[in-house]
Amino acid sequence: MTLTGLATARGLAGGPAFIYRGHGEVPVSEYAIAATRADDEVKRLNDAVAVTKRDLEALIAALRERTGRADIRVFECHLMIIEDEFLMNEVVGRIRNGLVNAEAAVRQTMDGARSQFAKMNDPYFRERVRDIDDVERRLLKQLTGFESNPHLELKEPSVVIADDLTPSETVQLPKEFLLGFATNGGSPTSHVALLARALAIPAVTGLVDIVSRVEAGDTVLLDGTNGEVTVNPDAESLARFRLQEKRSREAVAMDGAALPGALKDGGSVKIFANMHPGIPVAALKENRAQGIGLYRSEYLWLNHEREPTEEEQFAAYKSAAQFASTLEGDGSVTIRMLDIGGDKTMKGISSKEANPFLGNRSIRYLLSRREALRMQMRAILRASAFGKVRIMYPMVSCVEELRECARELDVLKKTLASEGIAFDAGIETGAMIEVPSAALNAGALADYVDFFSIGTNDLVQYTMAADRGNEAVANLYQPLNPAIIKLMSMTLSAAKEKGIPVAVCGESASDPVVGIFWVAMGVDALSMSATYIPVVSKILSSLTRADLDEYAKVPASLGRDATAAGIFAACREWMSAKLPGFADLLS
Ligand code: PEP
Ligand code: MG
Repeated sequence: MTLTGLATARGLAGGPAFIYRGHGEVPVSEYAIAATRADDEVKRLNDAVAVTKRDLEALIAALRERTGRADIRVFECHLMIIEDEFLMNEVVGRIRNGLVNAEAAVRQTMDGARSQFAKMNDPYFRERVRDIDDVERRLLKQLTGFESNPHLELKEPSVVIADDLTPSETVQLPKEFLLGFATNGGSPTSHVALLARALAIPAVTGLVDIVSRVEAGDTVLLDGTNGEVTVNPDAESLARFRLQEKRSREAVAMDGAALPGALKDGGSVKIFANMHPGIPVAALKENRAQGIGLYRSEYLWLNHEREPTEEEQFAAYKSAAQFASTLEGDGSVTIRMLDIGGDKTMKGISSKEANPFLGNRSIRYLLSRREALRMQMRAILRASAFGKVRIMYPMVSCVEELRECARELDVLKKTLASEGIAFDAGIETGAMIEVPSAALNAGALADYVDFFSIGTNDLVQYTMAADRGNEAVANLYQPLNPAIIKLMSMTLSAAKEKGIPVAVCGESASDPVVGIFWVAMGVDALSMSATYIPVVSKILSSLTRADLDEYAKVPASLGRDATAAGIFAACREWMSAKLPGFADLLS
């Protein structure tokens, strides 16, 4: 039996199934209290909050000790929830004004928060419901003294099958026995998915009824690349799977000497990682990213009910800069200014527009709200004293925008200097090329910036007029459409003429066929989710510049009426002919 779900974290895993049924709900009785008891209930709540905080801090410290990595951010986020004054004041208010016990007040408040999150457009934000569940469970356990057995009884390497996993449950799974996991709940943007990728644990989510279809001890083969779970395979399928597992392990292994991005004959491109505040950074180091090529700053807004202050932004950017400087190679962080609007909506900021994707978003929004723009620029400038920081402007569509940004930056530099605040006076600025007009007019834009970074996610969306999040037009989502290739080529020639570097930071950079094609066309850097760095690097290390020149000619060889699908197939064929192990690298 093969079940199909969402490909959540790449990789293969096979072994006995361990069915995890979760901690279950904490049983809570809700009752009215006399006004004279309100103080006692608030004290009970405060004690529970204090212990929960201590537990979370201890867990973070232990994780830092044990793995020095990843999972920590999730629990920092839980700490933020529990330290959220607004939320906790609401709980206290429910006790004092609603005269209910602390457990009831916690549950009612969290129910309210859950329904707020669930209504949000942004799937990343919607997924935060799981974090609220987790924090609520911790608090209720403190208040009720309810003891569940959080320790999973995993005794041998297993594939964990669960209805859903909270972030706490995910990190408490003993990693040495965790081969992979398959769940009904979760989505590619859930915290669990982010953790799985950060920890390099293959995962399939979004399955239907997996818990009742698999029994403990069944043999399960999990394919996180294709989103498939096979239960009790026949001997032949099992042997095929084992062979594939071995091949892909061997295929990705690098010799360890050269930095990712090195070509076979000495040339190289830079390989950066994309990240945003709130996701684990350990994978960047493990996969040897040379820096952060795209820091999606908008997540500081998306994760909060209000706009972050200059200090909050500064703290986040500073820590990104300090972390990036510990990476091998370039060690820079490219902080993209607030890219809000379109699919990234935020209450209070995003106004109702008939066409949000064509509306007052990203750099347009910032230029229409100068205080917000200046606050973010100041925070970035201040962080530039702590590492190699670059500023990147999102959704640029014309030169006026860059001219205005340059002017604002100049003024701010003077102000900071007069205040005696340290910053990098030579800070580089860049434009994202993700709107067709920017690619078409790249020559003019190049006069105002030090680098370009091509956002293929949006460039494809705007060029093909196909919503990047709409499955019904997913067939038009074509990074290798000849029109996109032309825009890439125009951007590259404009940049070369001016002598500025070009990166690609859209998802296509991590696709072994497409990302390498951009390198063949002449981009200087790719920026992608860190876990995909090894595969792309492995391919690059097997190719010479002459090979890449030949690869770049593949689309043209197909003639004028070539389709995106035809170009992709021909590129893939070229790769397979050149690299005998290519298919193994894709699994
Ligand atoms: C892009 O558009 O390709 C990009 C990298 O930005 P985002 O996906 O955040 O819009
Ligand atoms: Mg974009």
